[in-house]
Amino acid sequence: MTTSTEKSEQVPPNPRHGPRCRPKIIGRGLTREYLGPQGIVEALGPIDLTIGEGEFVCLVGPSGCGKSTLMRIVAGLIAPSSGELELHLDNSGTAPMSMVFQDYGIFPWKTVEANIRVALQVRKVPRKEARERAQMWLSRMGLQGFEDVYPGALSGGMRQRVAIARALAVEPEVLLMDEPFAALDAQMRQLLQEELLTLCQEDNRTVLFVTHSLEETILLGDRVVVMTARPGVLLDDKRVPFPRPRSTGIRDTAEFAGLRAELWDHLRSQVDLTQGLAERSGSPSGRGLDKDLGIGVGKEERG
Ligand code: ADP
Ligand code: MG
Repeated sequence: MTTSTEKSEQVPPNPRHGPRCRPKIIGRGLTREYLGPQGIVEALGPIDLTIGEGEFVCLVGPSGCGKSTLMRIVAGLIAPSSGELELHLDNSGTAPMSMVFQDYGIFPWKTVEANIRVALQVRKVPRKEARERAQMWLSRMGLQGFEDVYPGALSGGMRQRVAIARALAVEPEVLLMDEPFAALDAQMRQLLQEELLTLCQEDNRTVLFVTHSLEETILLGDRVVVMTARPGVLLDDKRVPFPRPRSTGIRDTAEFAGLRAELWDHLRSQVDLTQGLAERSGSPSGRGLDKDLGIGVGKEERG
C-alpha cells in the first residue's frame, strides 16, 4: 500500500516513457465524505496516487469503494474533504481533461457530428476545423456515414463510440473514463477495447480508467491500481508487464492469466468484505457485486 507522500510522487518506471515520466496528476491524502440519510459516509481515502504523463492507469475496486468519487475529484467536479490534488497541465491539447461515463452523456437533440462539433466549439475551435476534426474522429471510431443521424437511432455501442469520439476529439491532456463499456454487450465491449487500445497507443494520452473488468485493466493499462472496500484506499499498484504496442492476443498468454489471478486474489477479499457489509445492513447492492466483478474474471467477457 502506498502511504507516504514521498513514495506516492514517484511515478514507477514506465518502459514507454523512459525511467521516470513526468507526473501529471498527484493526489495527496485525498479523502471524501458525503452526508447521507444515515449520517456521514466516508466514501474515499485517504489515498495517495501519482499518474505520470502518458500513462494509462486502471482503477479497480469493489462497488461503492469510491472510484467514481476519485474520478470526480480529479475532474474538479467535486472537492476532496481533505488532501490535495495537483495537476500538471501544459495546455498542449484543446481541453485539459475530458470524461466518458457509462451512460454516454451525449445530447439526444443533436446529430452525431453536432455532438462532437459542439464540444470543440465551446473550446473555441473554429467552425471549419471543428467539422474536420469531428469527421476525423467519427471515422476513427467507425462512425462514418452516421454524421447526420440522431443518437436515438443508434445502438448502445454506437452511442458510446460517439461519447468516446467526442472525448478524444478535444484532444485532452487527460482522459477520464468511468466504466465506459459497462453497459455494452460482450462483443461490443471487446471491439471498443481494441479500438481504445489502438487509439491510446497512437496518441499516448494520460488516461485514468475505471472498470470492473480485470481483463480490461491488463489489456489496456500500464498500471493497475486496486482499491480496498469503502472508504477506498490503495491496496495494490501493479505495473502491467506487457510491452507496447500490444494486441488483444496477450489475453491468451499464461502471463496474462497469472496477473489476472493475482489481481483477483487481492480483490476478492475486498469484494467479500463489501458483500458482507451489504448483507448485514440489508442492502441489496451486495448482490450486484459478484455479477459485476464476475465479468472481469471469467471467460464470459471474451464474447
Ligand atoms: P464506486 O464508483 O467505487 O462504486 P462511488 O464513488 O460512486 O463508488 O461511491 C462511494 C460511496 O459513496 C458509496 O457508498 C456511495 O453510496 C457513496 N456516495 C457517492 N455519492 C454520494 C452522494 N452524492 N451522496 C451520498 N453518498 C454518496
Ligand atoms: Mg462508480
